[in-house]
Amino acid sequence: TELRTTPAVSAIPLEDMDRRHLLHPHQWGASPERTVMVSGRGCTVRDVRDREFLDVSGAGNWACQVGHGRAELVEAGARQLGELAYFSGFFGFSSDKAVELAARLAGLAPDGMDRVFFTSGGSEGVETALKVARLFHHRRGEPDRTWIISRTMAYHGATYGSGTATGFPPMQEGVGPNLPHVVKVSPPYPYRAQEMYGSADVTGYLLQELEETIQRIGPQRIAAMIGEPVMGGGGILVPPDDYWPRVRELLSRHGILLIADEVVTAFGRVGSWLDSPARGMAPDMIVTAKGLTSGYAPLGAVLFRDEIAETVAGGDAYFFHGHTYSAHPTACAVALANVGVLEKDGLIERAHVVADWFREDLAGLTGLPMVGDVRIAGATAGIEIVTGPQDATPVMAGAVTAEMRHRHAVILREYGPTVVLSPPLVIERDEVRRTAAALTDVIERLR
Ligand code: PLP
Repeated sequence: TELRTTPAVSAIPLEDMDRRHLLHPHQWGASPERTVMVSGRGCTVRDVRDREFLDVSGAGNWACQVGHGRAELVEAGARQLGELAYFSGFFGFSSDKAVELAARLAGLAPDGMDRVFFTSGGSEGVETALKVARLFHHRRGEPDRTWIISRTMAYHGATYGSGTATGFPPMQEGVGPNLPHVVKVSPPYPYRAQEMYGSADVTGYLLQELEETIQRIGPQRIAAMIGEPVMGGGGILVPPDDYWPRVRELLSRHGILLIADEVVTAFGRVGSWLDSPARGMAPDMIVTAKGLTSGYAPLGAVLFRDEIAETVAGGDAYFFHGHTYSAHPTACAVALANVGVLEKDGLIERAHVVADWFREDLAGLTGLPMVGDVRIAGATAGIEIVTGPQDATPVMAGAVTAEMRHRHAVILREYGPTVVLSPPLVIERDEVRRTAAALTDVIERLR
């Protein structure tokens, strides 16, 4: 009998191996198309077939603030791997890099928000914040405050707690029972105000709905509300200016905590280190990830108001919660280098410049019949695709992003009907122009 031989790994096309072996986040069993990336510099990435793409997505996922291949981050990571790659953060141990980063983040946070817990990403951070919210009330003698308010169209992660807080029902289907005691209210969606609220008064409608929801559940039974300052996965939904201050005031009146999910918005994406304080959220906790390391290492950070941290874990109180990779020294070293580059290169300010270029170049898209709305928040923008000027029925935007990739070698993401731009903050003027021209071409061909 003939011996069966296994071809050398290098002889098997990587794309086929990918299809066969690799389960992709959020795309288990979805499209068979594969683009296997191998390198990147600035806003340019290259795949295994040596095709070059313009990355206007932030490494596909709202990350990569400093651009690909930044030497400072590479060197910081390599140096730390050599010094001390990893040491547990459990039981009194820490690392110089974790301590420095915690202090650095406390310095960026509002006054009185000096405590930081590190995770491996956004979902773990949201999970942590939800637990802390319940525990805070429990420690203060209100154990019935277990309910969490979140919003439809919100994205908060894929673990059980964060996935239940997420407002996309497919994430909860068939894997239940999900986290109990989570209730959803409507998101601020000014473009669809009439059809969603029957009124142009977005904040008025949403405040009334929130108050009714609080009364229905019972104010004494609610631990916290969680919300993204600007909703990312919902399609760049920017709230009216008075929305968050009024939500905060209502929650405070009922003793309900507010968790700002800044996994997308922080570290310059929408134009500031942290967006929630500027938007009037006055949050009790802030969850960050992505831009914290520009995606160069998996890391999240949850910032706590001192009173929250001291209540759950001050004095004799002990909170049994943590992860093997909490405060991972190499990830923290990379984050410190990333924060250093954001500051040194003025990239937070540059997000405003990118926003101006978006305003100049994307404004014209609203003249296309299938563009319903263009929403810009700092260095991210959403273009909502609809059936036509007379009928704003949403059209799933996958065809736009696929054509942008195939026809123009530009990588964008779509979230339902919204095409999202979220480039590295180092994107150049002509790269924004090229993206806008390609979008015009692709969207015009849709009809
Ligand atoms: N929160 C928001 C607003 C997000 O956009 C995401 C991910 O996209 C998460 C949380 C979850 O973060 P991760 O995927 O790192 O777990």
